[in-house]
Amino acid sequence: MLLLTPGPTPVPEAIRVAMSTPTIHHRTPEFEAIFGTARSLLKRLFGMEEVLMLASSGTGAMEACVLNLCHSKALVVNSGKFGERFGKICAAYGKEYVEIKNEWDTPVDVETLLEIIEEDSRIDAIFIQICESAGGVRHPVEEIARKVKAIRNDVMIVADGITAVGVEKIDTTHIDALISGSQKALMLPPGLALLGLNTDAIAKVENKGVGYYFNLKTELKNQRKNTTAWTAATTLVIGLKAMLELIEEQGGLEKLYTDTEKRAHACNEALKALGFHIYPKAPARAMSSVLDEDALKIRKLLKTTYGVNIAGGQDHIKDTLFRINHMGLVAVYETAWALNAIELVLASLGRRAYDGTANRVFSERFYQ
Ligand SMILES: *Cc1c(COP(=O)(O)O)cnc(C)c1O
Repeated sequence: MLLLTPGPTPVPEAIRVAMSTPTIHHRTPEFEAIFGTARSLLKRLFGMEEVLMLASSGTGAMEACVLNLCHSKALVVNSGKFGERFGKICAAYGKEYVEIKNEWDTPVDVETLLEIIEEDSRIDAIFIQICESAGGVRHPVEEIARKVKAIRNDVMIVADGITAVGVEKIDTTHIDALISGSQKALMLPPGLALLGLNTDAIAKVENKGVGYYFNLKTELKNQRKNTTAWTAATTLVIGLKAMLELIEEQGGLEKLYTDTEKRAHACNEALKALGFHIYPKAPARAMSSVLDEDALKIRKLLKTTYGVNIAGGQDHIKDTLFRINHMGLVAVYETAWALNAIELVLASLGRRAYDGTANRVFSERFYQ
């Protein structure tokens, strides 16, 4: 079965092999050396001063940021499930927050956000997705970060880049914290959260650590010495190091970003040529996201007849959305086959005669 869901993504064989070695103890020079290499490769990936690895799924790093980087009031951008989650974390800790809520296909309006920041001096952190995976929308996070910092330099910009880190080059100049997770573009099993921090966020964390397991001050102190506060997710860290090295071997980050962009663009064009509606008004590169009445039927036939597993939607668009992953080292023929299979499904649903349009458009666009 071809796994083309926008998380989890398949784990490459070389990475599975790297993770099959006997467990090593986490308080040893052997593991600290691996941890140190992973740390420096991660710093390059994030383009930030510091990086932390936390033994949790991505949501753990979201919670850690709410705890440690927001001390008075949060502004949360909600254009889908993951934006909504930041608000829920605030609520769980009784933290005051305001939310900008949009339909899931809509990126946040920059002016609206800036007005709220200008009018409410109690807000000390903004929480936003770079790619909101629920609908595949790309928020203009870099622009927001730059403009917010120009008015209020003390406001922390916390970007959830779980479906953006390793997908595209992110300008982290004005971003204070950048979150990622193992099971998306980094093609690892779930269970490792990653967090990049810039100077201001480091200062805020060092000034005051909050919480216990997710206390970033404690974590920062340890990870600077290539160890972790609690038992490290050793196997996943070994996998992460191997994956970052594999990306380098396969041409490096720039090539990964270019290939992902080309695949995403060509795939969207092919879907449009089949008559589909691309759901997000500003599509992110992590996935192709299509709103269609037959989405559920299409997904079922793809899985049972053609061996392709793509994702559906959630909540109000659970059965009317399908999402095809572009994150990670996806082979061109995998996306091509998924598109061809979708075209075959459309024919079997009586919607459109098969004529090879999907693959023709995809190949033309990808190789042009
Ligand atoms: C997957 C994902 C998360 C994290 O979810 P976990 O299940 O906790 O790993 C957070 N934000 C976005 C945008 C995601 O795509």
